[in-house]
Amino acid sequence: MPDCLFCKIIQRSISAKFVFEDDDAVAFEDINPQAPTHVLIVPKKHIPGLADTSDADAALLGRLQRTSAVLAARLGLSGGFRLVTNNGRGAGQTVDHLHYHLLGGRAMKWPPG
Ligand code: AMP
Ligand code: ZN
Repeated sequence: MPDCLFCKIIQRSISAKFVFEDDDAVAFEDINPQAPTHVLIVPKKHIPGLADTSDADAALLGRLQRTSAVLAARLGLSGGFRLVTNNGRGAGQTVDHLHYHLLGGRAMKWPPG
């Protein structure tokens, strides 16, 4: 998608601090971190949000969660971590390319704001 920020990051036309890449996904540091570790796990396929997925995306969604768990371990988040996706403006989504926030390195509260 030509006007999509995360597609541009995936294509390296906008820079980011990458921490992971495979055939299906990338992960890079959030530019405005909300925790000591704040990484975005992003599929290379342009999907606007979780509500836009179909059954055909089930394996990809599973891979994204598994990648998140591997990254959490690799990044040393043994004390706990949170994996979040915001779907829609009402939930705080600002970039319309599916992504998961991996947050850790501090105590987390519940419910989230
Ligand atoms: P969301 O609000 O759930 O759509 O999350 C979008 C996230 O993308 C926010 O946490 C932003 O801080 C982050 N973000 C926006 N622009 C960039 C960028 N150029 N590089 C890295 N992260 C970004
Ligand atoms: Zn995109």
